[in-house]
Amino acid sequence: MEILRHGAAALGLQLTDQQVERFRTYYQALLEGNRRVNLTTVTDAEGVQRRHFLESLAVGAALHRHGIRPWGTPARFLDVGAGAGFPGLPIRLADAAVRLVLLEATAKKAAFLSHLTTRLGLGEVAVLAERAETAARDPAHRESYDIVLARAVAPLPALLELTLPFLRTGGVLAAPKGSGAAQEVAASARALRELGGRLRLSEPLPVPDGGPQPVLVLVEKVAPTPERYPRRPGVPTKRPL
Ligand code: SAM
Repeated sequence: MEILRHGAAALGLQLTDQQVERFRTYYQALLEGNRRVNLTTVTDAEGVQRRHFLESLAVGAALHRHGIRPWGTPARFLDVGAGAGFPGLPIRLADAAVRLVLLEATAKKAAFLSHLTTRLGLGEVAVLAERAETAARDPAHRESYDIVLARAVAPLPALLELTLPFLRTGGVLAAPKGSGAAQEVAASARALRELGGRLRLSEPLPVPDGGPQPVLVLVEKVAPTPERYPRRPGVPTKRPL
């Protein structure tokens, strides 16, 4: 885990030996889980450290750098479409002040996440095996989070409908995107307006020792999301705003 340790230091995070051990356990659990459930195509130790662990921590570092949520500040985080836990779980492993909920629609992946959080000794991290469209109607989750994270879940116009309902006004969506980010942002004007969001920034996300540089899109919630959103399961992606 030396790539992780050095990369985290470059992001301003001095991981303790215990934290690094937990990342090692995470990596082992990922390999084991990947034999039963399709969790990731990146399985080599170097790739997992760069593409999964450090890219996730880079999102946390960007929130810190932009003064949105300095490391160590208590905050409620929701990771929508968490898959194997990225980017939320590495951020929680590096920072115990994060109160994290992982939302994942695929039951087998959610079961893996429950097993993983127990194995990592993170019993207080909640795992919700639900679709975002359903969970966002639950008053326990709607308009309740300071930060929503989502990586590789849907193009931005649909993603906004799946995520903004969860944010309190003033909260921020952090979505690492690929090379199509600029087009996705350009196609999101109506969704932003309808859902109560405002683009805060879209900029390259520096990942230490990373591969292709992702683009981080940050969207601030500036007004409550109207009750009619999100629409029924599947509709936000089939007919994006
Ligand atoms: N965020 C992880 C990552 O970056 O490695 C996983 C990405 S994976 C490509 C997308 C995940 O989002 C899948 O696990 C899928 O089940 C989940 N997902 C897609 N649509 C969803 C929805 N509407 N509600 C909850 N989860 C969803």
